[in-house]
Amino acid sequence: MALLELKDVRKSYGYDENKVDAISHINLTIEEGSFVAIVGKSGSGKSTLLHVMGGLTKPQHGVVLLEGNSLYDMSDDQLSRYRRRRMGFVFQFYNLISSLNVIENIVLPIHLDHLKEDHEFIDELLDLLGLKEKKTAFVKELSGGQQQRVAIARALAMKPAIILADEPTGNLDAKSSLEVVELLKLSQRQYKQTLILVTHDDMIASQADRIITISDGQIVGDTDEK
Ligand code: ADP
Ligand code: ADP
Repeated sequence: MALLELKDVRKSYGYDENKVDAISHINLTIEEGSFVAIVGKSGSGKSTLLHVMGGLTKPQHGVVLLEGNSLYDMSDDQLSRYRRRRMGFVFQFYNLISSLNVIENIVLPIHLDHLKEDHEFIDELLDLLGLKEKKTAFVKELSGGQQQRVAIARALAMKPAIILADEPTGNLDAKSSLEVVELLKLSQRQYKQTLILVTHDDMIASQADRIITISDGQIVGDTDEK
């Protein structure tokens, strides 16, 4: 089944002579349960594409359907609620709250929706991510790599249908990067999630079921296209 469908999507920034088409003519279907890597040079439009997929950046043109729902036809409230419940984001800037500790950061999105967290699962995640001893540490006391892991735990804690990751291993060394991707894959396989990951790292991309290459805002390669 198609989890995500983009139809003739275009997003540009700026106006007139300063206008940049970040992505254009994007037609794409992503199957439920797959692991898709989006690759391309810096400035090619990867992040814009991921943001559009996640309901974070409204395109000027086209339709984005997630689980059959047209994201940009929802109200802001509906969309943020939907994002919190069904999507897990892992970005380069983790948007962690420095005045909260690790566990508080992880459960915050869950509590915002008045849902009950799965303590056992969260403990398991922290264990897998090597954060067990850091549960009550403040985020500002952690290294960059540890903060990255907290952001991953927060994204996975809700067992989202879709995980959207933008260079999730950008600040990690090669060994930790592979470990992090292994973890994302483990979650993806176990909970039949769809994992969409933007990377410029070929080694990371090679872990995916499907690789989509972006250049100048357009899809120029797709390992699923026959
Ligand atoms: P990538 O993730 O592949 O590096 P981006 O999606 O970040 O590519 O950027 C695609 C193009 O859109 C680039 O030319 C970039 O400069 C431009 N762009 C991205 N975000 C903005 C923005 N907020 N305002 C203006 N231009 C932007
Ligand atoms: P409430 O029902 O009042 O929300 P919880 O039982 O969910 O309380 O959580 C009690 C406290 O334990 C909260 O401060 C919460 O942040 C923290 N907590 C939640 N998950 C874990 C966990 N896996 N390990 C340790 N502490 C946790």
